Amino acid sequence: MSKDSTYILSLDQGTTSSRAILFDKGGNIVSMAQQEFEQIYPKSGWVEQNAREIWSSELSVATQCINRVGVDITDINSIGITNQRETTICWNKNTGEPVYHAICWQCRRTADMIDEIKKDIDFSEYITNTTGLIPDAYFSASKLSWILANVDGARELAESGNLLFGTVDTWLIWNLTKGKVHATDYSNASRTMLYDINKLDWDDKLLSYFNIPRCMMPEVKPSSYIYGKTDTSVLGAELPIAGVAGDQQSALFGQCCFEPGDVKNTYGTGSFILMNTGHEAVKSEHGLLTTIAASTSDEVDYALEGSVFVAGAAIQWLRDGLEAIKSAPESEWLAKSVADSDGVYVVPAFTGLGAPYWNPYARGSIFGVTRGTTKAHLVRATLESIAYQTNDVINAMMSDCNNELKSIKVDGGASANDMLMQFQADITDTDVVRPTCVETTALGAAYLAGLATGVYKSKEDIKASGVKFATFAPAMPKEDRDSKLSGWKKAVKAAIYWSGEE
Ligand code: ADP
Repeated sequence: MSKDSTYILSLDQGTTSSRAILFDKGGNIVSMAQQEFEQIYPKSGWVEQNAREIWSSELSVATQCINRVGVDITDINSIGITNQRETTICWNKNTGEPVYHAICWQCRRTADMIDEIKKDIDFSEYITNTTGLIPDAYFSASKLSWILANVDGARELAESGNLLFGTVDTWLIWNLTKGKVHATDYSNASRTMLYDINKLDWDDKLLSYFNIPRCMMPEVKPSSYIYGKTDTSVLGAELPIAGVAGDQQSALFGQCCFEPGDVKNTYGTGSFILMNTGHEAVKSEHGLLTTIAASTSDEVDYALEGSVFVAGAAIQWLRDGLEAIKSAPESEWLAKSVADSDGVYVVPAFTGLGAPYWNPYARGSIFGVTRGTTKAHLVRATLESIAYQTNDVINAMMSDCNNELKSIKVDGGASANDMLMQFQADITDTDVVRPTCVETTALGAAYLAGLATGVYKSKEDIKASGVKFATFAPAMPKEDRDSKLSGWKKAVKAAIYWSGEE
């Protein structure tokens, strides 16, 4: 590797695997390593991970990633961290030993605690107004409260100032700096359900309700900021940790969604849609979450966040449930073999409908089947349903705030499907923009780190750094779009009617 090259190491700590990616300044992947780690299911609905293994696997992939290409450690400018959000870890400040496994964001053990909160409409309102979140067991607050109440010795340690709390970013920073830095960034703090996203401070009323001593909480800093340096014993050099953001916010940044109205959608198992709303924390009227976007200063940007429960999962259903296709990519050429879905609509409400319908009782439904319907129509209608659902969430976002939609930036497994991307552009009547490098989550953390250390002078400098895109422009006549959208609305209405819970 040439001496004047500049590399940024991105640590992407996900729910099922730890990854490390080395980027050059142009956002190109120079090297990558990945390692899965154990998921622990002690009881039905409980999900844990070994916090030590989260750290050791992340350290191991970081080392592999650097060694694989023989980059000199001194050529690495800085480190960015992006992580699974909300997952909760508590550890002894003096020994560094976690007092319990990491409680994963998926874990439902505290659902009863949240049900109690939801009975109190005023308090639920307070939580939404303060944290931007709708009370749920996903977020860290109830998990941390559970550890303090159920793990032997945890409360005493916490009250004496010897127990630390952190989301995964905080845990990695603490280990990378050998216990020198106990900090998180605004975007991760905003997923704890303990953070006031307007005042930018931990909220005393919520800390008190969940019985959490404030001294456990990390300091909160901008996402692009020099948090500290790695201890020499960890990677062999002191490297600045200069970018930190939760995975979805990091992807929003990695997609260069810097302006109000910029939207990204990650088409994975489910879909995660985030819209930058600038300096304004917009309160949703449609059950969307308000969250802090990855920000470069103490004046933070906010985002609206919505998800589609079943996106790529519907393609998995075609493959594994119906055995209609052998692989996910096969869905594309089958769908392209017909001109349209011939009036067939699939509403993949396998686990109910999310934003903007919020009906947990709705179930998957298929409408408009005729004697002429073929497997190809069904596959096409299933792919189209992913675009319709995304369109519904984006429309909800647009009616929550008065931004103009410029384009949708896309990533995630199903964004590889050109037919789906074109249909999304047609149905939303906007450009769909897919970067050549779809590792946008990791790239976002690298950009944030590079901005803090001066590799990039500004956000414009990042945009100009050379990332290439494929653009899908809308090409569907308005009458066709209107007619398809009205068919989809009818199908959703019928699925809701069938649930008996209108
Ligand atoms: P996750 O991070 O949620 O595991 P990924 O981003 O890896 O998801 O994407 C995997 C999902 O994308 C799967 O649900 C799969 O069905 C879907 N998928 C992958 N490739 C395609 C394709 N070419 N067309 C449609 N769906 C696809």
